[in-house]
Amino acid sequence: MLKQFITVAMLSLSAIASANAAINQTKGDFEDKFRQLDESLPTPNVYRNAAGEPGHKYWQQQVDYKIKAKLDEQKRRIEASQTITYHNNSPDTLKYLWMQLDQNKFRNDSMSAMTTTFGGIGNRGPATTAPSSGKAAQLSLDALRRQQFTEDNVLGYDIKSVTDKSGKNLKFTIVGTNMRIDLPSYLKPGKKLTFNLDYAFNIVEEDAVSARSGYEHFPDDEREGGNDIFLLAQWYPRLHAYTDYEAWTNKEFIGRGEFTLEFGNYDVELTVPADHIVSSTGALQNPKEVLTSTQRKRLEQAEDAERIVFIVTADEALENEKEGTDKSKTWKFSAKNVRDFAWASSRKFMWDARGHHQDGDDQPLVMAMSFYPKEGGDLWKKYSTEAIIQTLEVYSRFSFDYPYPVAQSVNGPVGGMEYPMITFNGPRTELQKDGSRTYSQAEKRFLIGVVIHEIGHIYFPMVVNSDERQWTWMDEGLNSFLDGVAGREWDPTIPWGVEPRDIVDYMKSSTQVPIMTQSDSVLRLGPNAYTKPAAALNILRETILGRELFDFAFKEYAQRWKYKRPTPSDFFRTMEEASGVDLDWFWRGWFYTTDHVDISIDKVYKLRLDTHDPDIDFNRLRQEELDKPLSLTDERNKAEGKKLWVERFPDITDFYDENDRFTVTNKERNKYQKFLSKLKPWEKATLERAVAEDKNYYVLDFSNHGGLVMPIILELEFADGSTENQYIPAEIWRRTPKAVSKLIVTDKEKELVSVTIDPRWETADVDVSNNHYPRQIIPSRIEAYKRKKSTSKVSRDIMQDIKTEAKSYDENTAEDDDSN
Ligand SMILES: [Zn+2]
Repeated sequence: MLKQFITVAMLSLSAIASANAAINQTKGDFEDKFRQLDESLPTPNVYRNAAGEPGHKYWQQQVDYKIKAKLDEQKRRIEASQTITYHNNSPDTLKYLWMQLDQNKFRNDSMSAMTTTFGGIGNRGPATTAPSSGKAAQLSLDALRRQQFTEDNVLGYDIKSVTDKSGKNLKFTIVGTNMRIDLPSYLKPGKKLTFNLDYAFNIVEEDAVSARSGYEHFPDDEREGGNDIFLLAQWYPRLHAYTDYEAWTNKEFIGRGEFTLEFGNYDVELTVPADHIVSSTGALQNPKEVLTSTQRKRLEQAEDAERIVFIVTADEALENEKEGTDKSKTWKFSAKNVRDFAWASSRKFMWDARGHHQDGDDQPLVMAMSFYPKEGGDLWKKYSTEAIIQTLEVYSRFSFDYPYPVAQSVNGPVGGMEYPMITFNGPRTELQKDGSRTYSQAEKRFLIGVVIHEIGHIYFPMVVNSDERQWTWMDEGLNSFLDGVAGREWDPTIPWGVEPRDIVDYMKSSTQVPIMTQSDSVLRLGPNAYTKPAAALNILRETILGRELFDFAFKEYAQRWKYKRPTPSDFFRTMEEASGVDLDWFWRGWFYTTDHVDISIDKVYKLRLDTHDPDIDFNRLRQEELDKPLSLTDERNKAEGKKLWVERFPDITDFYDENDRFTVTNKERNKYQKFLSKLKPWEKATLERAVAEDKNYYVLDFSNHGGLVMPIILELEFADGSTENQYIPAEIWRRTPKAVSKLIVTDKEKELVSVTIDPRWETADVDVSNNHYPRQIIPSRIEAYKRKKSTSKVSRDIMQDIKTEAKSYDENTAEDDDSN
């Protein structure tokens, strides 16, 4: 009986651990969160090697464009002709070429239009509410406007001709937003082909269709002054990419999945009304023909200026706005090694610039420039070009020198969109009744945020050319992560949406798909492709790898894939290779599943080492017995003064009234001596030291409620008021991903009083209420409310309402009026 006591106490440490292991090995419940990712990734080959680098036979196609385009301002139409030179660098012989006709997306019969669901989830653009929701169905005025616009206008490309070098027609077949051009003779590896294309299209109204480009017309009144801003993107037929991993990436343009493109050189001539200012991908080739000598001088001054210099001032832009012209000018641009080409044109633009100097030899001077109408006002003057330069500085630190001669931010109807060397950004000021222009704090944050984000895209994916049609996260996620780095160096009080805490609501929701989902099928694009990967990388940098390892590996990725086309596996492999840390569990959990982080601390046990010395251990057992609360009956009997029988009749006591069951005899003492005598010297020394130190042995039980395995970050608080942090790598979950126990040993005087998991909220743990042991009271809110009367259309008091006087409203006199 006594022996049994000792055994139980001795076993206590291992018993708890094995109990947990048993829970996790239920039949049919096995999960290996650390299974290596190579099983899911494509097999490395000569084009993409196992290190995540371009392989020794890496290739990509090159497509050069010479384009002449005319903007017809009256008809809001582009007429263009282009000559394309296609370099077949692949090892394959091509029988046909596939081109992207993105403008065809806006046709009424496009796959995009036909498959837009009513009230469906995941649509870009105006929201609708379906009748099946049980509420009155809703159709926003935005949705109606879009429907009216596409009904009223002929949209999509008018492909006038496709001819070979000698002017002979080439056979082409249009399939939705794609066009196949059949080649009269096959294009062999290493050969190039030149052909021509004439086309035209009507420009969409961006505000009506949300197209990432298009025109915006300002009301023809005195306040706005009429006129348009034209943003041209996805405007010329472009070659589809032909790749080593998918051949032609000719997936229909439905709207969400952006662009998969080839690098090439561009010479583009843009003919626009003579009073327009053009901002474009590329370097301006004919400044003498399109700029005044004053403007050219100002541009030169801007190269070394401390603050922005106006090339076109506010007054000059206002003057341009007044008349309009029949004359035209042709702006010529040249761009080397870009994957796309976009431009903007308007007589409303003012134009500021400032040179950014880089240390490297490749591109020592970059002109940061902004173009905006008066509606951009002081907000743009102050922050647009400034934010461009800050972006270049931070992003280059994480990747490579900005490789192009210009970096531009253009205000227009697009909220935010990126192209090589040029970005479209939407924030504006508000015209007040007194004629002044003001802006809200939200609009200021929007401008700084969007400029950093879009300029950042010139690195990812404009130079690190990932496949956007397939994977939105590869450009948006990586770029959001870096814009968060840049942004928090600008102003950490702006919500950048990259903190682990920013993603918890999404990660515990049921409306989600893994990050590794094709772009057009993603539910809730914002959190899926932007916030979640950005927060994941933030965690990888700050918590899992640390800044030094992460920054080295990330820069390696950027430099390996500069001007090349990385796939997800190239990113995953490079980050592991270069950091030297196995991250398969991290990619698997964060990118391939919808698991979330929720680690709970369930119990903390305090164990004391048995000494084996019966004179000590039996006393401890006796004390444990005494420490238990007295039975209620015994306590009340005592309180009532009830005497025990032996107290009333002491003469009937015996040996056992003096000696309880914890009384030690020589039998135990002898046994202890025998035990000691059989110990090897090191065993004896170890036991003696442990007994002398009498440390505290704490066993912490953790369970994983979210499925995602993550490091366990502990804050231990002690009775003396001190705290200690411990970082337990995620690998602790490698055998039992649902529950683990951890032994923590402290000095005798370091009594543990509480344990907190992830005290700094750095792992995106969705439920922090189970992160404390002992548990804490959870602060929350409650609001007293007043019941509202029903205000349905049938309960109007018409007898009263009919006395209401008629009023007319306009924007300037309208006041809040609820007497309807
Ligand atoms: Zn973006």
